[in-house]
Amino acid sequence: MDEFDFETLAIHAGEDADPATGALRQPLHMATTFKLPKFGVKLFDALMMDSARPPFAYTRWGNPTLRALEDRLAALEGAEAAVVTASGMAAVSALLLTLLSSGDHVIASEVCYAGSVELLGQHLPRFGIEVSLVDTSDLNQVRAALRPNTKLLYVETPANPILRIADIAALSNIAHGAGALLAVDSTWAGPGLQKPLALGSDFVLHSLTKYLNGHGDALGGVVLGPTKNIQRIRKEMLVHLGGALSPFNAWLITRGLITLPIRMQRHCENALRVARFLEGHPKVARVVYPGLESHPHHALATRQMADFGGMLTFRLKGGLGSAITLAEKIKLFSYATSLGHAHSLLFYYPTDMYIDAMPFYTEAQKRHIREWTGDGILRASIGLENPDDLIRDLDQALRARTFKGWIGPLAYRIMKNMPDLERSTNDGG
Ligand SMILES: *Cc1c(COP(=O)(O)O)cnc(C)c1O
Repeated sequence: MDEFDFETLAIHAGEDADPATGALRQPLHMATTFKLPKFGVKLFDALMMDSARPPFAYTRWGNPTLRALEDRLAALEGAEAAVVTASGMAAVSALLLTLLSSGDHVIASEVCYAGSVELLGQHLPRFGIEVSLVDTSDLNQVRAALRPNTKLLYVETPANPILRIADIAALSNIAHGAGALLAVDSTWAGPGLQKPLALGSDFVLHSLTKYLNGHGDALGGVVLGPTKNIQRIRKEMLVHLGGALSPFNAWLITRGLITLPIRMQRHCENALRVARFLEGHPKVARVVYPGLESHPHHALATRQMADFGGMLTFRLKGGLGSAITLAEKIKLFSYATSLGHAHSLLFYYPTDMYIDAMPFYTEAQKRHIREWTGDGILRASIGLENPDDLIRDLDQALRARTFKGWIGPLAYRIMKNMPDLERSTNDGG
């Protein structure tokens, strides 16, 4: 399928017409177990995963519906191989636990998806893995963090939730010069906007839950990279830790991928329209969107990305009170975590709460993060609705008078992380 372009691969790669019926979509194989040829000696080798495409035996090891998705994702990302997992976090943990052992050192983005930075900052050290969290958009910080035992550089770009951009090609040179590997969580861009492998990364990860599925109805994750390493992840982590994707979710995500190119185009157009609107709004203090000239890494984003994505953050002049008013008054946007859906979503990150949840940050890191976030940011996942409707919704919510009466109790609920909000804030989206 190498000869085809991205839009064509999104529809065709990994899925030939079903030989039994001619159906253009592969049947959904909701089966855990596959009948095997009896006593095939070669089969045992193959089942031990020494073959690149082992026969199907048990769905935790592989399944035709999962393989169709893996083949499509590998084609879209230009990767040798892919392994799909039950969630984005299952992909992150499988990669980190396969590549790192006690005594190894990893350098990672100090601001990235909350689940990832907590795994890196809180849990890997429990297993004797040394972790340095640095601002990976600052190459000097990365160079200064290198140690003789550095095995991996783990980078998220654009970084969730603050939209810092890291230079993948430069980071690949730094990692490889030190004998380490580079892995990039490319969830916020997706394969249509950014190609980390072509820029020198060894691995790419995605939460399939976000843009790649795109409909907000299935969790999933993927690690892509060289066949040998991907086989190792399947054999050592998927089989032993067990984070296998449901075939039903794989089937939904493969369906979602069909429209990925056209959806991303619309996400990007809508986000730029909304970002420009917010940038000109008297109640808005700052907008962070890689497509705006005002973004500190706009030039790098222009070089590294085909377009700027559907995510943006903004700060309001009125601080917490006006953020709560906005959250209360939006009608079309949903106040919700997660991202990359057809639905537009909005979520507030009070900086204090965000950095207090990360006990491993130094005071200098907290100050550095605050330079980007002030006392808090509203994160918007711009959906596929009509952009004028989205702008009208934000405009009416921004114009609403800040009603002082309920700000106290609501602010208290947000800041003290009461149970009803805990559900939506703990995983950070
Ligand atoms: C959501 C997200 C994850 C985790 O994915 P899940 O599918 O929710 O487990 C990892 N990285 C980034 C950048 C994300 O946005």
